[in-house]
Amino acid sequence: MSLVKYKKKRNFNSTPEPAGEIKKNSASLSFVVQRHKASRLHYDLRLEMDGVLKSWAVPKGPSMNPADKRLAMMVEDHPYSYKDFKGIIPSGYGAGIVEIWDKGTYTGIDDPGKNGIEKYLKAGLKAGNLKFTLKGKKLKGEFALVKIKGNQENAWLLIKHRDAFATDDAYDSEKETPASSPINKWLKENDTSKKKAR
Ligand code: MN
Repeated sequence: MSLVKYKKKRNFNSTPEPAGEIKKNSASLSFVVQRHKASRLHYDLRLEMDGVLKSWAVPKGPSMNPADKRLAMMVEDHPYSYKDFKGIIPSGYGAGIVEIWDKGTYTGIDDPGKNGIEKYLKAGLKAGNLKFTLKGKKLKGEFALVKIKGNQENAWLLIKHRDAFATDDAYDSEKETPASSPINKWLKENDTSKKKAR
C-alpha cells in the first residue's frame, strides 16, 4: 500500500485535497462514496484497507438493485483522511467539486474475526473478488466487487447481493442525491449554457 501515485498526480500547493499519511490500527474500517463532478460526474467508492483507501471510480454510481452491475474502475490508493474530503479542486488532476454522498463502516462477509479482517480483504482484492457489508446511510448490506477478466487492467464490477436491503426497483444514485447538494448548487451557479444561449 502506497500513496506514491496519489501524490505524484497532485500539486498540494494548489489543491485542498489532503496530502495524507498512511494510517494504522483502526477499531473499525471506514468506507466513503464521494460524488465528484470533474470533467464528468461520477462516484468514487473508497474502502479503508491497511491504512489507506482502496478506490474505485464508479461512472454510474452504486446501485441497491442486484440486477445492476456497475462498472468500477480501480484508481490509485487515497490517504485515509480523504474520507472526509469535500470541496472544490481548483485546477489540475480531478479539477471540479467533491461531496460526500454516503459514508459509514464496513466489514468483510465471512469475516474471519479479530485481526483477520484486513488479511481476508487483501486476499479478496488479490483474487479479484471482494465481498463486504456496508453500513452506510444509503448503502446497506452485502456487496461484491468482482474484477473483470480480460484486457482492461483496472475494470471491476460493483454488484449488490440479494439481501434484506436490496431492491428490485430501478435504482438511480442521482435520485438519491438531494437537489440542495453542494454539487447541484454549484452546477446551477456555474451553468454557462443558459448565459451562452442569450
Ligand atoms: Mn473522482
